[in-house]
Amino acid sequence: MEWVRCWRVTVEFRDELMSSPRTRRYQREVSTAEEIRALIDRARKHPHFIRHTEESVRVLDGKEPTDCPCGAQYNMIGDPGRGVRRWRPCTCGGHFVYTCQACRLVVVDPSVLFDCHG
Ligand SMILES: [Zn+2]
Ligand SMILES: [Zn+2]
Repeated sequence: MEWVRCWRVTVEFRDELMSSPRTRRYQREVSTAEEIRALIDRARKHPHFIRHTEESVRVLDGKEPTDCPCGAQYNMIGDPGRGVRRWRPCTCGGHFVYTCQACRLVVVDPSVLFDCHG
């Protein structure tokens, strides 16, 4: 897996069905400027559209490793006391730390970068 940059688009609408007016919010995560534009173009056509905001966020992309380089499968469920997968918070967003039950090899995913301060 890796951390990828994407955009979190928040669109606000007036909720006309409520007796006291309030806003409804929708959030979508998109990865390209075209997707943002398409999303906002559609939202603007809505009669209750108020506004939109975009913020740059980082999300984890890709598949989780399912087995160790030694061939042993990671046991994701199983015995919680032995927990093969742990979460380590980091300046990059965080890492999963996998510990193989068979060979004790530790795999960090996404990989630790030079500017990581976990
Ligand atoms: Zn192993
Ligand atoms: Zn990191």
